[in-house]
Amino acid sequence: MPATAALDVLVVGSGASGLAAAVSAERAGARVALATKTTLQACNSAKAQGGIQAALGEDDSPEMHAEDVMRSSHDTADPRLVQVLTGEAPSAIHWLEEVGVEFTRDNGGYRLARCGGATRKRLLQVGDRTGHAITKALRDAYEAGGGAELPHHVLRSLEPAEGGWRASFETKEGPATVDAATVILAAGGRCFAEAEARGELSTNHPNATGEVTRIALDAGAEARDLDALQYHPNGGAWPPTMQGYSIPETTRAYGAVLLNADGEEFTDSLGARDAVSQAIVEEVEKGKGVSTPDGRPAVWLDTTRISEEDAQISLPYMLRRYRGAGIDPLTERIYTYPVLHYQNGGLVIDEHAETTLEGVFACGEIAGGTHGRNRMMGNSLLECTVFGRRAGRAAAERARA
Ligand SMILES: Cc1cc2nc3c(=O)[nH]c(=O)nc-3n(C[C@H](O)[C@H](O)[C@H](O)COP(=O)(O)OP(=O)(O)OC[C@H]3O[C@@H](n4cnc5c(N)ncnc54)[C@H](O)[C@@H]3O)c2cc1C
Repeated sequence: MPATAALDVLVVGSGASGLAAAVSAERAGARVALATKTTLQACNSAKAQGGIQAALGEDDSPEMHAEDVMRSSHDTADPRLVQVLTGEAPSAIHWLEEVGVEFTRDNGGYRLARCGGATRKRLLQVGDRTGHAITKALRDAYEAGGGAELPHHVLRSLEPAEGGWRASFETKEGPATVDAATVILAAGGRCFAEAEARGELSTNHPNATGEVTRIALDAGAEARDLDALQYHPNGGAWPPTMQGYSIPETTRAYGAVLLNADGEEFTDSLGARDAVSQAIVEEVEKGKGVSTPDGRPAVWLDTTRISEEDAQISLPYMLRRYRGAGIDPLTERIYTYPVLHYQNGGLVIDEHAETTLEGVFACGEIAGGTHGRNRMMGNSLLECTVFGRRAGRAAAERARA
């Protein structure tokens, strides 16, 4: 079981947060390796459709964004982390543009949408494949630098070693260890595994199994709100090929509303995620829901209220998926029901994304505090970028100290 040559920074996970961290650490002059469970492309981040929040509208500010985050989290988010998240959001967007992300524009400015729980329009989009665009640009940026790639490296344990940390992996060739001065854990959440255990549907990629959180806890890290899992209000419920698909929240930003069996609006369709999911579940429990042709509980999402133009600009992928499955959302309502989606809590971090273990950083869905117990849509890709960048820079600096 040979140990590889010591590195400055080892990043575990190749979603948006790991990629942002790896690019930043590399640009800060560190010797970096990016290890990931399967291929570099395999992650939840690439599946993200809706968009990324930043207070860039004329009527908006980072302070208003922060207030929306605190309110949506029911004041359970860590205000220090929220201030960093919303304060650095505009510069994070410009950094993404610099690495090659082209956000959708309207009349010369960004096309901004209002997402659930937000008081202003602040969701930037790349059509409805925002996560794909962000991860591709970051991957290209990392591959253009001098960092190493370690695909098919499944982290199994982490322990202190001379001058830093030793990570043990399972690889196609057998066990391997990697020593690094600092480690950035960016291995995402656990909702795929959790949904399987509960016998439920999930929006998540099969690699979202959560064992890296357990590994960090075993190494002595602290966590918070791990029990707070988020349901996406609008899972696809029919046809079978769309079951577990996350219908972008931007459908509701562009006019779709939730209706019960009697065609009545029963909730604010742009409320906070937990409130909307709860309202759907309660409506079904009251007997006012509908049943999919295979007997699953659901309500209607009336997508026929979305204009053709908005759909073509901001929902082309969703339209293609549904039309390919034989349903045209612009002429008929679609079945929806909440589906397991996101791990709100995670490892405790400080403003520089360092966990309670010295030299071990965490960013993205594996970290807790930024969203408290209820995340707003569009703030996860933002968290990945803002705290990924911070983790990369801080880990590189620490490695050289
Ligand atoms: C369908 C869908 C739509 C979404 N839409 C949006 C949206 O519009 N806006 C928004 O802000 N958020 C959205 N989200 C949430 C957001 O995309 C994710 O929370 C975020 O991208 C997570 O990024 P991450 O880098 O933390 O983790 P991930 O992108 O999940 O990446 C984790 C990485 O870690 C690797 N890994 C896991 N375990 C191990 C291990 N043991 N060893 C090595 N590597 C490991 C994985 O293979 C993967 O590469 C959406 C999520 C989904 C699933």
